[in-house]
Amino acid sequence: MKVAICPGSFDPLTNGHVDIINRAAQVFDKVIVAVLHNPNKKPLFTMEERAHMIKEALKDLPNVEVEYFSGLLVDYARSKGACAIVRGLRAVSDFEIELMQASVNRKLAPEVETVYMMTSNEYSFLSSSVVKEVASFGGDVRCMVPTVVAEKLAEKFGK
Ligand code: ADP
Repeated sequence: MKVAICPGSFDPLTNGHVDIINRAAQVFDKVIVAVLHNPNKKPLFTMEERAHMIKEALKDLPNVEVEYFSGLLVDYARSKGACAIVRGLRAVSDFEIELMQASVNRKLAPEVETVYMMTSNEYSFLSSSVVKEVASFGGDVRCMVPTVVAEKLAEKFGK
């Protein structure tokens, strides 16, 4: 059973995330979407809200589970018996930080491979920050996020 972890803040989930998770679910037997609890960041959505939106948006993928984690990603990956961490790459600017992260993680846990998937072209501009900014000014984000996320953003920003 090949288990992969898709870690991230997912504040909130975008169609770019969904694309990567979907593709990972075709390659691995089980994919755990791991929502990061980072006490240093002030997210728009709580962990519970983020996890709820992911579960709702991905409910048709039977081999995808949603969980929370904090602390070292490799420790979490090990505790789940995962063989891989899956990350998405959007642009060259993502590369530098990801290379550093993957190198540190390999030192800490050589048995957990980091796998990168290139974003699909239509999502290369898409990030949670862009979505939040557009939504905060009342812009239409329905082409950028799953329906459940668009609804929650509208609630959050009182639209
Ligand atoms: P983090 O803060 O860990 O980068 P994010 O929620 O921003 O968390 O992203 C989670 C993962 O999804 C990362 O691997 C990121 O590169 C990837 N990702 C985010 N947006 C896109 C996108 N538009 N296309 C492909 N991958 C993406």
